[in-house]
Amino acid sequence: MADRVRFGPAGLPVGFDGPLMSVPQYLKNEGLDAFEYQAVRWGVKPQVKREFAEKFKSEALKNDVWVTMHGSYFINLAGDEGVVEKSIERIKACLEATEWLGAESVVFHPGFYGRRSPREAFEICLKALDKLVEYMNTKGFKVYLRPETTGKPSQLGSLDEILAMCQKFDLVYPTIDWAHIYARCGGCFRSKDDYLKVFEKIEKALGSGGIDKLHFHFTNVEYSNKGEVKHRTLDEPFGPDFKILAEVVIENEYKPVIISESPVLDLDAVKMRNILEDLKWRKKK
Ligand SMILES: [Zn+2]
Repeated sequence: MADRVRFGPAGLPVGFDGPLMSVPQYLKNEGLDAFEYQAVRWGVKPQVKREFAEKFKSEALKNDVWVTMHGSYFINLAGDEGVVEKSIERIKACLEATEWLGAESVVFHPGFYGRRSPREAFEICLKALDKLVEYMNTKGFKVYLRPETTGKPSQLGSLDEILAMCQKFDLVYPTIDWAHIYARCGGCFRSKDDYLKVFEKIEKALGSGGIDKLHFHFTNVEYSNKGEVKHRTLDEPFGPDFKILAEVVIENEYKPVIISESPVLDLDAVKMRNILEDLKWRKKK
């Protein structure tokens, strides 16, 4: 459980060109304290060597940076049998690297409905998750699987589906991608109440344990009737409005880890942190 609201980028900071090992120090200097390691373009085996990962872990600890890992975009736990098997292998490899990195969890997009009904796709995904959880238990991994709410109606991963998956397993918690939910529902976050409904759903499904382990993705997003089109920066005229989410977080003393997926990753993570700090300060006055 995060000890405070934490912020960081999904991947390398935009102006960064040093060795990967100095990312935690770089983030600390920016005032950030989280990092989502991107294994997204890797194949079955994430190219993380154990020795490297363990060094990275000590750098992250030294600089107080919370680490998570984003799995490959090729994962589809609701596809045909062969595809599901390969996806399971990809996630297993990620889990191992995640354990070495001392990361909290593996974040991934669960898959696509394809020609299946949402119900069928969901059931197939559950079976795959079951295999993964069994693997984690056998290995004694102390990490979580975090299926993410997805941004297109063709993708498995509505908020309700993600929460229903998490309900079934102790080691599975949601990644709440606000931009994705927003794109899927045609811009449905307008008031504090709209945001609060998501927290209420999480608590109803997973109890206080779900609220204790909040993991968010945030970016502004452009969308169409087919869902997300393009991630946008906080300065561009697209929603959702981070300020309203920040208010809800402060008022309810939530402690999420907030990962910026904006086109200017860390720069918008800093902006979000500043928005939250500024609101906190105003409320105290
Ligand atoms: Zn995301």
